[in-house]
Amino acid sequence: MGNSTKKIRLATIWLDGCSGCHMSILDMDEKLIEIAEYVDVVYSPYVDEKEFPPNVDLTIVEGALSSDHDIAMIKKIRENSKLILALGDCAITGNISAMKNLFGSDAVLQKGYFDLADINEGNAYPSKIVPKLLDKVLPLHEVIKVDYFLPGCPAPADAIYEMLKALIEGREINIHELTRFGK
Ligand code: SF4
Repeated sequence: MGNSTKKIRLATIWLDGCSGCHMSILDMDEKLIEIAEYVDVVYSPYVDEKEFPPNVDLTIVEGALSSDHDIAMIKKIRENSKLILALGDCAITGNISAMKNLFGSDAVLQKGYFDLADINEGNAYPSKIVPKLLDKVLPLHEVIKVDYFLPGCPAPADAIYEMLKALIEGREINIHELTRFGK
C-alpha cells in the first residue's frame, strides 16, 4: 500500500450520529495496524485533540447536521480539509438523526428535557451545554461540498478499509462495488 513515506493527515468527527460508524472504523480490527502505517490521526474521538487542525488531508464525517455548532464545525472542517468523506447514512441522508424533522425541534426538546426528565432544576432549557438546534436536520452535502459518500448504517468496515486503501494509494474507487446488499 502507498509508495510515499509522507503520512496522510487524517481526521474523523462524530456529529449527529450514534457513534456506530466510528465503531465500524474500529471493526477493521487488525487492518487498523496496516492503515496506521500510512496515516497520522490528527483529530478524532479516538485521540485527545481539542481544536480541529489546519492542513488535514482527509476528514471522515459521521452524522448529520443538527445544531448551530454542527454547522460551524462542518464549515471549519471544509476550510481545513482537502477531502471529506461522508461516512454512513446519517451523514449522507440524515437517516435516523433526521427523524426529528417529523416533529420539529421544540417538540423534541420538550420531550427530552421536560416531559421525560427526572431532574430539571428551574425547568429551563440547558442552553449553556446544549447548542441551539436547527429547525431541520440536514445531510452534509446540503451545507458543504462532499468529495466521497460511503453509505450504510453503519458503513461496513470492509468498505471503509477498501476506501481508505484506495485513497492512500491515490486510486479512484467504485463505491457501489463496496456497498452492494448481500456482500
Ligand atoms: Fe449510527 Fe447508522 Fe447513523 Fe452510522 S449511519 S451514525 S450507525 S445511525
